Amino acid sequence: MSIPKAYCEEVDAVVEITDAHYIWLERGGAGDLHFRCPHDECRQNGNPRIFGVNYKRIMGIDPIHRRPHFRFSKDPHWDGCPWVIFDQAVQEIDADESLPRVNGLQRSELISVFDPTVDGDAADHDWTGLEGVLRGTVAQERRQALVRFIRERLPETCNLEKVVRCFEAMSDEELRDTRLRLAGLSLTYRSAFTFAMFCTPHHRYNRIYYGRANVRAFRNGYAIRFLARPKLADGTECRLSTFITYEALNAAKRWKLLSLALKAAADSKQTLHQCYVYGDVRFRQVDGGDPNQIEIAPGSLHSVVVTLTENGA
Ligand SMILES: [Zn+2]
Repeated sequence: MSIPKAYCEEVDAVVEITDAHYIWLERGGAGDLHFRCPHDECRQNGNPRIFGVNYKRIMGIDPIHRRPHFRFSKDPHWDGCPWVIFDQAVQEIDADESLPRVNGLQRSELISVFDPTVDGDAADHDWTGLEGVLRGTVAQERRQALVRFIRERLPETCNLEKVVRCFEAMSDEELRDTRLRLAGLSLTYRSAFTFAMFCTPHHRYNRIYYGRANVRAFRNGYAIRFLARPKLADGTECRLSTFITYEALNAAKRWKLLSLALKAAADSKQTLHQCYVYGDVRFRQVDGGDPNQIEIAPGSLHSVVVTLTENGA
């Protein structure tokens, strides 16, 4: 009974659940948000309610089984609403015993392809074609085509946050047994995620680096500085960081999501937050006695995840 997006009445836009969290925080962290079906025609024909579950919870603190999500209400949807078929397909997948199961995750939530090369603004790229597949008459073949489309698309994402959610839900054994296709390479989750300490500019392929980091606001952007100091082959320590400019944040359509997380992290009394970054690893020699720098340049803002260790207030 889940749906990846919903129309939010308060901001007059279709949003994902993570957006709902930040919209709520931005509105002072009080009151409720109201959601409806994300499909335009469905809203014109009955305007069914959608419920936002746990969007007020702080990510990174609450247990994974209480993760935020949207779910259908009992309100009937318009006959041609693609999200009803989406829901049926998801239920079929979740009930399919032949598909792998990860502790704490539904089968439909298990991501097996992370494609960070997709344009950062196309955060809803996962579902861009969905409504198009259904356009026209609602014949049986169309329904089948739609179910096929959903089944193929569900394990794919350009949004690192979904991959991180899987990573955090897995046991050590599951991390070793579950594969993730990362920028065209087939890896285990365990090798796709590398602790910041082991970041090196000489890896054959880029990985998702993670660890505790300090987030600070500067004149032109935010710096995420990892606590762990990676060492080069000759033993010299480096500082590992990522820099995100305000310009990049403002240029992205869904900038609010990451921008508010970064602001909350920078303002927070807590100094360290769990951060995940995927991008190009660059080495920079620093003169004057300061440690050398390794910088991860994320290709897209959807390749950066900041999980707050406490409410930024
Ligand atoms: Zn609908």
